[in-house]
Amino acid sequence: MNARGQEVERRRFDTLVIGAGGGGLRAALQLAQADASVAVVSKVFPTRSHTVAAQGGMNAALANVLPDNWHWHMYDTVKGGDWLGDQDAIEYMCRAAARLVIELEHFGVPFSRLDNGKIYQRPFGGQSQNFGGEQAARTCAAADRTGHAILHALYQQNIRARTHFFDEYFALDLLKDREGYILGALVLCIETGEPLVIEAKTTLLATGGAGQLYRTNTNAHINTGDGMAMALRAGIPLQDMEFVQFHPTGIAGKGMLISEAARGEGGYLVNREGERFMERYAPHAKDLASRDVVSRAIATEVREGRGCGPEGDHVLLRLEHLGADVIHQRLPGIQSMVGTFLRIDPVTAPVPVFPTCHYTMGGIPTNRFGQVVAPERQGPEEPVIGLYAVGECACVSVHGANRLGGNSLLDIVVFGRAAGNHIIEYLKEARYHRPLDPESIEQPLARLARWDERRGGETVSGLRSELQRVMERHCGVFRTEEVLQQGVLEVRELERRLQQVTLSDRSRVFNTARIEALELENLMDVALAAVSSALARRESRGAHSRIDYPRRDDEHWLKHSLYFRDGGALDYKPVRMKPRTVEPFPPQPRVY
Ligand SMILES: Cc1cc2nc3c(=O)[nH]c(=O)nc-3n(C[C@H](O)[C@H](O)[C@H](O)COP(=O)(O)OP(=O)(O)OC[C@H]3O[C@@H](n4cnc5c(N)ncnc54)[C@H](O)[C@@H]3O)c2cc1C
Repeated sequence: MNARGQEVERRRFDTLVIGAGGGGLRAALQLAQADASVAVVSKVFPTRSHTVAAQGGMNAALANVLPDNWHWHMYDTVKGGDWLGDQDAIEYMCRAAARLVIELEHFGVPFSRLDNGKIYQRPFGGQSQNFGGEQAARTCAAADRTGHAILHALYQQNIRARTHFFDEYFALDLLKDREGYILGALVLCIETGEPLVIEAKTTLLATGGAGQLYRTNTNAHINTGDGMAMALRAGIPLQDMEFVQFHPTGIAGKGMLISEAARGEGGYLVNREGERFMERYAPHAKDLASRDVVSRAIATEVREGRGCGPEGDHVLLRLEHLGADVIHQRLPGIQSMVGTFLRIDPVTAPVPVFPTCHYTMGGIPTNRFGQVVAPERQGPEEPVIGLYAVGECACVSVHGANRLGGNSLLDIVVFGRAAGNHIIEYLKEARYHRPLDPESIEQPLARLARWDERRGGETVSGLRSELQRVMERHCGVFRTEEVLQQGVLEVRELERRLQQVTLSDRSRVFNTARIEALELENLMDVALAAVSSALARRESRGAHSRIDYPRRDDEHWLKHSLYFRDGGALDYKPVRMKPRTVEPFPPQPRVY
């Protein structure tokens, strides 16, 4: 029943895709082209999804600029992820990359060109030739607006294939029956506040990341980990949530991203003495070491008093030597963003930068077909029937403990397509919709209603800011047992105070405030997952850097963590070290 006591409206589709970023749209396209009925729900207009912000490009070993092959790309990805990535999934992704870039080009993505007409490729961090040798150039780009080009092309192809869009609808919760089948979701029309049941034989979560956990981040306001929290509430654990990527070059004090493309084109970092300090931290790769290495180096320079500016709280990115032509042609978006937010021109002045939260490596555990796999606690891992997840909300896991730049756009199209194909096969067997019992709908409706009943002096915006500050202080670039323990306590306290939020009367009229309350509830769950998983992992690996446990400890910690909402329990599962057709890359010291 809705708030007026009427039956909630229902719609039926073969597949419900929640999220219209690159991951959701690539999966939807595969399905729509196979004549499945597919609905895409998005809380913002599809082309405003966060994929639109991706700047630098997408990795594929095309070898258009320097020698390259998918096996070198695979090695770099395994090493970049500090050996926590599953090697079967990484192999699958790197092998598929070249084909999918060409496919995107055929969908209409205007990739930048070389003089010989081939697709332009730029060097990015962590890329090498010949298993750790010289720098490779593997990132295919449409200037510095690659995500924009990909998202628009995928949206247009979906319109052509007659995908059904529910624009500006907010997904509240998955609908799960007593036998554990996922049968769709309860969604809310943001404009009217009316709930709607979308029944589906299969549901795919593609809701993106959770960068809004931190005060300084490169993400849009909408990146609140909704799909991850929906999975947690459905009893599914989240995998590897302690691994949060801090991008080295956020605009200092503001957080907006200066893409790795800037260093790929030849930009470099200096400290207050004008020293190119990355030469000390990564003698071989220097400014193009992997992101966790560069972020830690910047944080260390600042901490040891070599930061720039009156407060000594950032370092400088130098681009002036590239010249106006290269900057105009290859980095036009960055030039205009720096002009807008800092009132400086990178052609003539260096850019102040500091690490900023950028990407969630962890997420909903899946296999390489996008099927969500949830182990019963201490039991075997089984696919959750009817549920898929792709993109940044998922953990397949190809990024391990640290994602390489250019590998996320690749991940979303590779696994979006793979999930679409798997669903097509599943639908051949699942001819009919399973009956949906009223109980599955009542629970999320009751959760919605509880928000209107809450009374107290707290505000959504106040709690959200506090949560972001707690995460920044207690689950940042460098971590210790004591700081993390305090973080868990503080997030739990904020969660308690969430019960004392009163939505103003204005909020009930304008649903955006109500949506922000639901997003905050989601952020709280995801924050607890991240800080609890970080507290438990007593080693340093990739983006998870423990001052009190500075070494990687393969003997005890070469395993994925799984966080369950129920009681905040943690469990672990092995990393899949065996690729499908090549020899595994065994763990080695990770030096750049
Ligand atoms: C500034 C920036 C630059 C980047 N540059 C690069 C790059 O150059 N190369 C690269 O490989 N990666 C890059 N990345 C990372 C990459 O862009 C993202 O990881 C990727 O695009 C995520 O895609 P996605 O499909 O998973 O999610 P998104 O594109 O984030 O889409 C999420 C979708 O879910 C919907 N949604 C979320 N919650 C709900 C809900 N409750 N109800 C309904 N709908 C919901 C949203 O409306 C949206 O449609 C960059 C990231 C940032 C922030």
